[in-house]
Amino acid sequence: MAIDVSPRGSAGYEANRGAFNVLLSQEPAGIVTPAGAADVVDAVEYAKAEGLRIGAQRTGHGAEPLLDLSGTLLVRTAAMDTVSIDAERRVARVGGGALWGDLVPQASELGLTACHGSSPTVGIVGYSLGGGVGWYGRRHGLQSNRVTAIELVDANGAERRVDAEADPELFWALRGGGGDFGIVTALEFELLPIREVFAGALFFPVERAAEVLHAWHEWTATVPDEVTSVGRLLSFPPLPEIPEPLRGNDFAVLEAVALLPEAEASEVLAPLRGLGAAMDTFAVQPPAGISGLHMDPPEPAPYAGAGMLLGDLPGEGVDALLAAIGPDSSSKLLSVELRHIGGAMAASDPSHGAMDTLPGSFLMFGVGIVPEPAAMAPTKEWLAAMTDAVEPWDAGRYLNFSDETEDIAVAFPPETVERLRAAKAKYDPEDLFHANHPVA
Ligand SMILES: Cc1cc2nc3c(=O)[nH]c(=O)nc-3n(C[C@H](O)[C@H](O)[C@H](O)COP(=O)(O)OP(=O)(O)OC[C@H]3O[C@@H](n4cnc5c(N)ncnc54)[C@H](O)[C@@H]3O)c2cc1C
Repeated sequence: MAIDVSPRGSAGYEANRGAFNVLLSQEPAGIVTPAGAADVVDAVEYAKAEGLRIGAQRTGHGAEPLLDLSGTLLVRTAAMDTVSIDAERRVARVGGGALWGDLVPQASELGLTACHGSSPTVGIVGYSLGGGVGWYGRRHGLQSNRVTAIELVDANGAERRVDAEADPELFWALRGGGGDFGIVTALEFELLPIREVFAGALFFPVERAAEVLHAWHEWTATVPDEVTSVGRLLSFPPLPEIPEPLRGNDFAVLEAVALLPEAEASEVLAPLRGLGAAMDTFAVQPPAGISGLHMDPPEPAPYAGAGMLLGDLPGEGVDALLAAIGPDSSSKLLSVELRHIGGAMAASDPSHGAMDTLPGSFLMFGVGIVPEPAAMAPTKEWLAAMTDAVEPWDAGRYLNFSDETEDIAVAFPPETVERLRAAKAKYDPEDLFHANHPVA
């Protein structure tokens, strides 16, 4: 077996064991950094020979629910970051460790984009296997349902390519069921022919949060599927790298991407822009221009977060949320956001994978920075206040936004849970693969 395994305590181990949340200390049995599929085959054989489990990770964004890694060989996929684009067929092929930031700028140059999410530093495979809720979601659906082929190393250590014809059941399970069925070495997916978007953000003083979030919430009921937007409260830390006038200040922020010609998009967005924001960044731009729109943190940080899908949230739900975490509460959360979902993400289709649709009208996520251990308890309290406030409209969990160890019954209907568990029993009966959201 040719693969180098970094044992505990080695320099390679220390360099590769980090998670995105720096409060987590990942301590796997060993770490491998494969350059391609042949190395992954070696890694799976090594894990089996040593009686270990095996799990893949690119960024460690979703590391928290993995729990105990002491009996697991961790595959860090960063070296498998190839990207190729067939512009004519509008298909991308990426290695198992490519980030959205490796693909989106190249695709944008060609007048193409993908169903990527808000952050360029998220791993394409982890995002896609878990569903993938992005800026084009209301018009073009979940990224998992744009995937056309998946190459992986399975529990027998065999390289396989699965698609709608070659093992459709495994293809179905992987598209939403996550990393529980193999180590993905390459992914192919459809690209969208989009040259320009009308996109931007509106920043309001946080004291206007109630007026602004209510106006946005009412507006979401009126917009076409071409518009995907976010309403949020955002506190910028007082860090030197954050520009004035954002640094150290709190805002109510509305963000939107419209797949409409400028005049039409301006008309749709007029009610929000007419609120008179302190800062308005809306402009026509190429798809690559929106990579920083959501202002996600690019570097690992100490934090705690919580997510929840919300059904038909009424205005009183917005009030309840604001009472819990708004400017008049004790909350010091960094960000609490409501993403407007629905549209194509709610449309079922027989060609879809395990995540056929995403339930609910809004996807909520809250996050607080925990710079010292003593800050954890209040941060958890604010997150609990956030979820408790909207509990009457709880529509389940979206596992990519869940830092908890969850039973997948919170994320899928019972028949999907049963089918995913049957697929796990068929393709990985020994539970070799250690995924952050196991289906079994
Ligand atoms: C700043 C930030 C912004 C985000 N924005 C969005 C967003 O807009 N929309 C959205 O839907 N999600 C978003 N997410 C959530 C993100 O999609 C999930 O955390 C996802 O799991 C990240 O994948 P990763 O590979 O980067 O993370 P990792 O923690 O490295 O991997 C997560 C899991 O994916 C699986 N996996 C990863 N690579 C492989 C592989 N090669 N083979 C098999 N399994 C694999 C494994 O089960 C692994 O445990 C965001 C997360 C962060 C931290």
